[in-house]
Amino acid sequence: MRYQFKFRPYQRKFLRSLTTNHGKWDIREGIILRLTDETLKVGWGEIAPISWFGSETLEQALDFCRQLPGEITDEIIFSIPDELPACQFGFESAWEMGSGGDNFITPNSSLFYSGLLPAGEAALNQWETLWQKGYRTFKWKIGVYAIAHELEIFESLIHTLPASTKLRLDANGGLSYEEASLWLRTCDNLKANGELPLEIEFIEQPLPVEQFQQMLELSTSYETAIALDESVATLGQLAACHQLGWRGIFVIKPGIVGSPSRLRKFCHQHQIDTVFSSVFETAIARLAALKLAAELSRNNRAIGFGIDHFFEQEDTWLQSLCNSL
Ligand code: MG
Repeated sequence: MRYQFKFRPYQRKFLRSLTTNHGKWDIREGIILRLTDETLKVGWGEIAPISWFGSETLEQALDFCRQLPGEITDEIIFSIPDELPACQFGFESAWEMGSGGDNFITPNSSLFYSGLLPAGEAALNQWETLWQKGYRTFKWKIGVYAIAHELEIFESLIHTLPASTKLRLDANGGLSYEEASLWLRTCDNLKANGELPLEIEFIEQPLPVEQFQQMLELSTSYETAIALDESVATLGQLAACHQLGWRGIFVIKPGIVGSPSRLRKFCHQHQIDTVFSSVFETAIARLAALKLAAELSRNNRAIGFGIDHFFEQEDTWLQSLCNSL
C-alpha cells in the first residue's frame, strides 16, 4: 500500500508552566501528520517528542518528516529507526487509524484517570477542582522542594484528600538514595501504624535513570511500590529493565515509547504491571494512546491523562490545523 503523507508542526502554550524536577515547561511542540491511502482512507497521527525524557528532539522528528517523499509505503512506516520513538508512534498510529485499522477499539469508560496536582503547597488548593471533575487518583510531584518541606505538605495532603483517593508521588528522578529511602520508609511506617488515611499507590521514578540497581534494591526493601517512568521511556529501555529483573510497575508513555505493535507484543508476552501516561499530546495522539491503554492496562490502575486543565480548549486550533493539511 502507498500513502500520501503530509505533516505540520504545532505549538501549544501551557496555561501555566509545568514544573517538574526537570525544570519548567511552557510550550508543547509537536507535529500532526496525515496518511491517505489509495482508497482515500485517512489516518491522523501525532509526533509529540519529549527529548529531555529520552525521545528524539522536535528538530530530529521534523528532519525525518522533511526528508520523506510525499508518498510513503508500509515499509517506511514500519522501519523507522529506534532513535525516533515518537515518530514510530506517530506514523504507526496514523497507519492504524487509517488503513491498518481493522482492530480499532474505541477507548471505553472503564478507563479512569489520574489527575495531576501541581508541586508543593499548591496541591492543597487544587485537588478539589479535580475531585469535582471526578478524579479519584491523584499524582503529586515531589523532589521539587526541600524534602523536609515536602514531607510536611505530604502530611497535610494525606489528611486533606478524601479517604477513597489514591495518591501517586512522582519524583522524576529527583531524589537521592537517602531521600528516596525516607519517602518509602515514611509511607511504610504510616501504613504499618494505621495512620495512612488513603492509599499511596506508588512512588514514581525516585532516582535518576543511571541508578537502576539502587531502585531495584529499594523496590525489594519496602512495601510501598515503585514505578519506573524515565527509566523506561522507550521500548528498548523497558525491555532492558525487565531483563535486569524489574518486576515493579512500568509507566508507559505511548507517545514516546515507540512502535505500538511492538509494545503490544512485549506486554502480551511478559504480562507486566503497567500504568499508561500522557506526554501532553493533543486529542490525536491521545486517542491512539488511550486505545493502547484500554488494550494493555492490567490491575485496574488509573491512567495518567488527566491533563486537560493544563491547556485551553483545543478543538478550534487543532481542527483548523487538520483542515490546513
Ligand atoms: Mg513520571
